[in-house]
Amino acid sequence: MTAKIIDGKAIAEDLRRELTGELEELKIAGARPGIATLMVGDDFGAGMYRGAVEKFCGEMGLGYRSEMLPSDATDAAVVAAVQGLNADPAVSGILPLRPFPVQVPDSLVIQTILPDKDVDCFHPFNMGRLALGEHTFPPATPRACMELLERFLAAEGKDLAEELEGAEVCVVGHSNTVGKPLALMLLNRNATTTVTHVYTSNRGNLAKHTREAEYLVVAAGVPHLIGADLVKEGAIVLDVGINRVVVCPKCDALNRSKKSPCKACGTDLSEAQSKTVGDVDFNAVSQKAAAITPVPGGVGAVTNMMLARNTLRAARLQLENK
Ligand code: NAD
Repeated sequence: MTAKIIDGKAIAEDLRRELTGELEELKIAGARPGIATLMVGDDFGAGMYRGAVEKFCGEMGLGYRSEMLPSDATDAAVVAAVQGLNADPAVSGILPLRPFPVQVPDSLVIQTILPDKDVDCFHPFNMGRLALGEHTFPPATPRACMELLERFLAAEGKDLAEELEGAEVCVVGHSNTVGKPLALMLLNRNATTTVTHVYTSNRGNLAKHTREAEYLVVAAGVPHLIGADLVKEGAIVLDVGINRVVVCPKCDALNRSKKSPCKACGTDLSEAQSKTVGDVDFNAVSQKAAAITPVPGGVGAVTNMMLARNTLRAARLQLENK
């Protein structure tokens, strides 16, 4: 079997067109949809994400505000900054960029964000609503997985709700931002949902669960964790993982860094090429699955669009409550 590619880039372009129309309507109605990021300190990953959000807002025509505090900011100063964003009518959605320095607890920041501006569903109020199957801002990455599935199945003449009811779905990863909320979304669709994680692997039980899955979603952050031997013939596979790796020029093994020799054959990697891969061995699994998302160009391509959709929803709410 050669898997069909679930094309995240094409789906993201469709979404962009749909959302651009909605954004124009909202602007005409007097809304000012925009995102603010909140960064405390100078974490490299948070800084990269901040830049990506700013660029994306520019491309989409969304407003953007950057709130940056020094790494020695007090928790009171951070709370005051969040309150400022809560009060700003040009900020529809607030994205806290973690990690924060130790003196600033995540929970304090998140719980200060107005639930109506919590566009990536971090606030316990919104996560609670998600758990109860009530209307909320669906977290962007898990919602991107559902959106990809929904649109892929629709193109095949199938309905997401019908397909997921009672289906065997396995999620690999149980983080608060991806695996756990995704499992809740799948349960809300009545899928038979199995959640696996590093402790499942540590007991040697990962394959037992993944091999049963008609739908397999992997969000572990481990390059090529899932090979063909862990996948059921004809499964639909969504790969959330984004891993920067160094490929050994001699044996093709994936390494984390150029600084150490290849972990498989000891070759010097200082001149080796880097690339981005998922948690799924795409080439091998494509021979067994019915459909698969690539990395890059799969889930990641759609995630920003889900954030934009939530931002428009937040802007609409704020317009109605004016
Ligand atoms: P995380 O580190 O918070 O969580 C990782 C999860 O994977 C944990 O539940 C852990 O138990 C599990 N895990 C780790 N090693 C495992 C193993 N050997 N076997 C089984 N489970 C294992 O990561 P996260 O924030 O959930 O992100 C996961 C991956 O998804 C990362 O590669 C990240 O870059 C990527 N990501 C992609 C998007 C996107 O838009 N595509 C968004 C967020 C995260």
